[in-house]
Amino acid sequence: MFKKILLFLKNSKIWRSLKVRLFIIMFLTGMLPAVLMRAGILENYENRAVDVRVSDVQTQLRIIANHLITYNYLQDTSSEVIGAELEQLSNLYNGRVLIINGNLKVVKDTYGISEGKTIISEEVIRCMKGSGTVNYDAVNRFIEITVPIVENVTLPQPAEDGSKSRDMVRGVMLTSVSTDSIVNTMDILSRKAMIMESIMVIGIFAFALMLVQVMVRPFERVTKAINEMKEGYRDEPISVPDYLETEHIVEAFNSLLERMKALDDSRQEFVANVSHELKTPITSVKVLADSLLAQPDAPAELYREFMEDIATEIEREDKIINDLLALVKQDKSVAEMNISVVDLNALTEIILKRLRPIARKKNIEITMISKRQVKAEVDEVKMSLILTNLVENAIKYNREQGKVEVSLDADHQFFTVQVKDTGIGIPEEYINQIYERFYRVDKSHSKEIGGTGLGLAITRSAVLLHRGSIKAESVEGKGTTFTVKIPLSRTLVPV
Ligand code: ADP
Repeated sequence: MFKKILLFLKNSKIWRSLKVRLFIIMFLTGMLPAVLMRAGILENYENRAVDVRVSDVQTQLRIIANHLITYNYLQDTSSEVIGAELEQLSNLYNGRVLIINGNLKVVKDTYGISEGKTIISEEVIRCMKGSGTVNYDAVNRFIEITVPIVENVTLPQPAEDGSKSRDMVRGVMLTSVSTDSIVNTMDILSRKAMIMESIMVIGIFAFALMLVQVMVRPFERVTKAINEMKEGYRDEPISVPDYLETEHIVEAFNSLLERMKALDDSRQEFVANVSHELKTPITSVKVLADSLLAQPDAPAELYREFMEDIATEIEREDKIINDLLALVKQDKSVAEMNISVVDLNALTEIILKRLRPIARKKNIEITMISKRQVKAEVDEVKMSLILTNLVENAIKYNREQGKVEVSLDADHQFFTVQVKDTGIGIPEEYINQIYERFYRVDKSHSKEIGGTGLGLAITRSAVLLHRGSIKAESVEGKGTTFTVKIPLSRTLVPV
C-alpha cells in the first residue's frame, strides 16, 4: 500500500507544478526555524538547570562535609545535628546521601540500606584522591555527585614547601539527586512549544497556500490570455506585467504572434497579387476577343493584329505561371538542392552568351571580368537562375547603348558575383522592397519591359538556399550593382 502511494506520487505530475514546489519550500522554510528553535531552547534549558542543580548540591555537600569533620561523624554517627542536615538535604533534592569513610565503608545512608557495606566504585576512589565527580544520567533521571570530606591537619614539622598544614581526605559524600523536577519542567515547556508549533503549522500552511495562489496567478493569467487568443475571443497583444518573467513570456509570445500575423498578411497579399497578376492578361485577352466578336466583318489584318496581342498576353501569363512554379518549388525544401562542383567561370560565360542577343537589341555591351578561376559546390540550375535573372534585369532596366559588367572573384571561403549596369537605377527608398514577390518599382514601365516582379524573389530565395547573401547598391539614373556572395563549399559554413 505504502509502496503504491510512493509510486503514485513519483509518477504524478504534481511535483512538476510550480505551485506545489513553492508551497513546499515556503512551508519548510517557515517550519524549520520553529522546530530547531524548540529543540535548541529545550536542550539549553536542560543543561542550564542541571548545572544550577549540581552547583547548589555541591555547595550544600561541602558545608555538611566540614560539619562532618567538626563532629567527627566518620567515627561516631550519633550527631543529631548532622543527621538532621543530611535528612534536610535528601528531602530538599529528593535524593540519597551516602557517607563513606577512608576504608570505603558506608557509615551513613539516608535510605538506611547500605550502612556497613563497602563501596568500590570508580567515582568514590577518584574522589578519595581529592577531586569530586559529577555524573548526569539523563535516561534514569538522576545526577550523581561525589564530594571529598577533607580535614586540614597540622603537620608536626613544616613540609618541604614550607606549609604547616595539609588537607587530608578522610572520606567521601556520595549523593544522587533526582532530576524529575527538571524533566517535569521540560515536559511542560515542550508541551507548550508543541501547541505553539501546531498553531504555527496551521498558520504557515494557510499563509503559504494563500501566497502560492497569489504568486502563481500571473502565470495562470498568461495561460488564460493565450487560450482566449487561441479560441479567438481576442486578438490584441497580451499584457501581464506583474513579473519580469511573465513580461518576458508575454513579449516573446506577442512577437511570435506578430510574426505569424505578418506571415499571414504576406500570404494573403501574395494570393491577392497572384490572382491580380494572372487575371490581367486574361482580361486583356477577353477584351481583345470580345471586340473582335463584336465586329462580324472585321478585316483579316485586324484579326491578325488582335491575335498577335492575344498571343503576347498568353505568353505573359505563361511566364508568370512559370516564375510562380519556380518560386513555389524553391520554397518547398532545401533537400531538393542538387549540389555538384561547378566551374563558375564557364557557367557565367554560357549564360552571357545566351543573353548577348537580347542585349544587342538595345546595343548593350556585356563584359565579363574573371578575377580568378572559381570552382564551387553549388546547385547548377539554381546558380544559372541567379545569374540569368540578374543579367536579364541589368539588360532590361538599362538604357540604349548601356553597359553590363559581370565580375567573378573569390577568397578562401566565399565567391562573389557582381552584376553592374548603367541603367535607370533604383530609388533608395525602394531598394529593400525589390526582393518582394510581385514588387516592381515602376509598374507602368515594368509592364512594357515585361517584368513579372518575381525574378528577384526567385533569385534571393536561390541565394539563401546556398546560404549566401545578396545586396544591391544603386544610384538613380546612373546604374545598379548587385553583389551575390556564396560559400565555396557546403561544409565550410555552419548551418
Ligand atoms: P521584374 O520581373 O519586374 O524584373 P524583379 O523581381 O526581377 O521583377 O525586379 C523587381 C523590380 O526591381 C523591378 O520591377 C525593377 O523595378 C527593379 N529592378 C530590378 N533589377 C533592376 C536593375 N538592374 N536596375 C533597376 N531596377 C531594377
